Amino acid sequence: GRSVFDMSESKAKLLEHNSGLKFKDVAGCDEAKQEIMEFVTYLKNPKKYRDLGAKIPKGALLSGPPGTGKTLLAKAAAGEADVPFITVNGSEFQEIFVGVGSARVRDMFALARRHAPCILFIDEIDALGRKRGNGSFNSHSEQENTLNQLLVEMDGFNSNTNVIVLAGTNRADILDPALMRPGRFDRHIYLGPPDVKGRASIFKVHLQQLKLDSCIKLEFLARKLAALTPRFTGADIANVCNEAALIAARHLNPHVDTKHFEQAIERIIGGLEKKSHVLQLAERTIVAYHEAGHAVTGWFLEHADPLLKVSIVPRWKGLGYAQYLPKEQYLLSQEQLFDQMCMNLGGRVAEEVVQLGMSDLLGQMSFELGDIATQKPFSEPTAQLIDQEVRTLVDTAYQHTLKLITDKKQVVDLVAKRLLEKEVLQKSDMVELLGPRPFKDNSLYEE
Ligand code: ADP
Repeated sequence: GRSVFDMSESKAKLLEHNSGLKFKDVAGCDEAKQEIMEFVTYLKNPKKYRDLGAKIPKGALLSGPPGTGKTLLAKAAAGEADVPFITVNGSEFQEIFVGVGSARVRDMFALARRHAPCILFIDEIDALGRKRGNGSFNSHSEQENTLNQLLVEMDGFNSNTNVIVLAGTNRADILDPALMRPGRFDRHIYLGPPDVKGRASIFKVHLQQLKLDSCIKLEFLARKLAALTPRFTGADIANVCNEAALIAARHLNPHVDTKHFEQAIERIIGGLEKKSHVLQLAERTIVAYHEAGHAVTGWFLEHADPLLKVSIVPRWKGLGYAQYLPKEQYLLSQEQLFDQMCMNLGGRVAEEVVQLGMSDLLGQMSFELGDIATQKPFSEPTAQLIDQEVRTLVDTAYQHTLKLITDKKQVVDLVAKRLLEKEVLQKSDMVELLGPRPFKDNSLYEE
């Protein structure tokens, strides 16, 4: 009979035999490329894997904000492996009629099996893969059927199926955990907004497609434009390049020129609303000082974990982050706990010292009202005692951190300024700025 998942008209856009895209078209995101490489190797030679008795990977979740290249990377993987690429959007399965959603899932997998070896890309998988069991509407139970069908199909793959399922989402946090079980989307590849280096290499890819003024040095222009576009995603950058070409055409220029790019960037930032962009710039400075505060505090406290890198490129939650090498150890000494506390306070203290942020009326404590608030296993006087002790401890750490940051204010300035410039600082950058850390980094992983 006629398929419910009527692909007769949309077939062409659904299935591409040869996208022509390669990994070189995806700039930056080297880690993500490396992770997806294993699927490519497998699709090129499944027999090698089977002969070795290896469990074949079935799928991966590509997560990250819109425009960061998830679809592009999936497509390029198909191009590299030279296999067909099938795309669908999770929202196409949202159906209120009983059985329609799951029938579509079945049809989609049947199509993929017919074209195997191939890559099936389900964009916006959150539309059909939300956590189950948190609603009482009928549409929810229909959504559950659809999701169950997806799980059944994936579990039904065997080592001869040769279909790799990739799924894109910017809401990995709301996905049903069943999707991430072994043998399903058990690999998680994150694509974040690019840092300044990443943006320069994305610009390079897109600039190559334009007719530039012959005196322009591609490398130089790419770096310059990257510096002008903090927080832009790959999609925004593609947009800038296209807009610049349109502006050049409008002015009847035979080449695209630096000023066209500058106008394009202005226009796109204008589109994102000027006011919020200005705010964003102020916010970047705050974030830079905040992260510099963490990094500098940790640098000068002996028992804090050694720093790996510090960044003001926004990720998952939060606007920046500092990353440390944890020591291989389960019980922390009192000194370690104290230094760790100071390091955590360092961000906020740095904001205060340069008078950027605002101090909070409740002092330096945050209050979590979990279960413990309703059923304390201790008496009211004990609770007060705990409060007092905690407050004393936090205050001591706060004073300690305040003194450190005040003493090292110039160093914090230095690190914050370099962060605003480079967006990501590795440990080696810190050493270049501050000299070697005054203690031995006695972590197991340390080189
Ligand atoms: P997502 O699927 O994450 O929303 P896309 O893959 O659809 O984003 O990206 C949209 C467009 O942005 C791509 O077609 C490409 O032109 C551009 N783009 C995004 N990331 C990159 C990148 N890393 N390198 C080159 N171009 C990119």
